[in-house]
Amino acid sequence: MGTQLHSTRVVIIGAGNVGATCAYALLLRGLVTEIVLVDVKKDKAKGEAMDLNHTVPFAYPTRIWAGDYGDCAGAAVTVITAGAAYLKPGGTRLDLAKTNADIFRQIVPEVARHNPDGILLIASNPVDAMTFAAWKLSGLPSQRVIGSGTILDTARFRYLLSQHFGVDSHSVHAFIIGEHGDSEVPVWSLANIAGMRLPHFCAARGLTYDQAAMDDIFRQTREAAYTIMALKGATYYAIGAGLADIVEAILRDQSTVLSVSSLIQGYCGINDVCLSLPAALDQGGVEWVLPMNLDPQETEAMCQSAQVLKTIIAQLKLE
Ligand code: NAD
Repeated sequence: MGTQLHSTRVVIIGAGNVGATCAYALLLRGLVTEIVLVDVKKDKAKGEAMDLNHTVPFAYPTRIWAGDYGDCAGAAVTVITAGAAYLKPGGTRLDLAKTNADIFRQIVPEVARHNPDGILLIASNPVDAMTFAAWKLSGLPSQRVIGSGTILDTARFRYLLSQHFGVDSHSVHAFIIGEHGDSEVPVWSLANIAGMRLPHFCAARGLTYDQAAMDDIFRQTREAAYTIMALKGATYYAIGAGLADIVEAILRDQSTVLSVSSLIQGYCGINDVCLSLPAALDQGGVEWVLPMNLDPQETEAMCQSAQVLKTIIAQLKLE
């Protein structure tokens, strides 16, 4: 714990909404000494780098530039946010996966060639399939390929629960696991505030535990991306901050437990698929995946989520 990493360079591939916001979050935290933005749209990367550089006097000394794959050499973490953002009208999640897998076929081998010792952090959607693709295409050990997974869904879930129960979201311990998407699973059986399960918390607080309200909180969590996209066209602040949390856990070697996507082998019979479970992250990437003690319904829902993802991954023909 606490070892200083040699490099504090982070490269972000894809300087769009998510990539630029991630860079901004890293800069405001003073977490790294160098941020490199790489994008096929070179002017976009250049413009974002300029704007971010003008933030430095308000933040921390940081070198920021628009670069290329050669700049991945020595980076501690390369964050990939490149790719198509959303489903085309009438398109399926599989279509999006195929489009972004083709983009990853260009990007990932280049990153791995220049930086065989770094960590890959994937945000492009569908993020679990893209994390699996990045692992296959990079040839890196699986613990060094991480997807943002359900870090965002978990944050949304905790926020909504905090509003309902009237406590700070930092005091709500609850996870969304499985796919970052429609088959994701809320772990109600272990959700707690100060170790008190939610029905117990309600009883102690003189509240009624309202199952319909809980179901609605999960529905709002699962549908949040669609709702925000309908309102403003994209989502990026929360995921930008979440990516910065993941980078921070790695750079500071914190063993922080976050719900990220990683290769799962042998959990409740689930194998050879990337999905989210709480995982401790340190300077080596995924230190270990915590084997949550789910109830039978949650286990069944996890298996179904894994199956959804396996079906998509199989069609990407990554072997
Ligand atoms: P965006 O369109 O604003 O940015 C994508 C960027 O990728 C563009 O600047 C584009 O030029 C670049 N790009 C495309 N192909 C490239 C290539 N071959 N090499 C380098 N750059 C390339 O999109 P966005 O809103 O930033 O979203 C980016 C991705 O993040 C999407 O796949 C989106 O679905 C995903 N996303 C994930 C989460 C999450 O929780 N994981 C949340 C929000 C968005």
